[in-house]
Amino acid sequence: MAVVYDSSNIFAKILRGEIPCNKVYEDENALAFHDIAPAAPVHVIIIPKAQAVSFDDFAQKHPQHLAAFFQSVQKVAAELGVQEGGYRLVTNHGADASQSVPHFHVHILGGKPLGGLLPDDGLSR
Ligand code: AMP
Repeated sequence: MAVVYDSSNIFAKILRGEIPCNKVYEDENALAFHDIAPAAPVHVIIIPKAQAVSFDDFAQKHPQHLAAFFQSVQKVAAELGVQEGGYRLVTNHGADASQSVPHFHVHILGGKPLGGLLPDDGLSR
């Protein structure tokens, strides 16, 4: 399903330099910065510079950028020093996943044992 990208979202403003971020990495296709409300000792957000609402939208509209983007994710995780201890990648798409910022982003989480995949049994609503 085609969705419309709203360029007033907060990550678009960060990309345009209209609001600051605590940057950890940038290349021609991606920008990574510390999450403003960290959920783990290491919590970095990495976003593509291409306009996409979510992973689903990115994969449909920019398939040619998928490999480069995930190579940037790997580089950032390595630079953060979480490769050895382990890390988790999370990307939320849509309402059931509680996506709050409509610009595709991947959370890189680590720095401690992260526990189970979901906070509950994953089945209750
Ligand atoms: P999601 O729920 O997957 O859409 O995640 C959005 C994430 O963006 C949350 O973890 C927020 O804490 C984070 N966030 C929102 N605004 C900012 C900001 N200005 N700088 C850094 N992280 C932010």
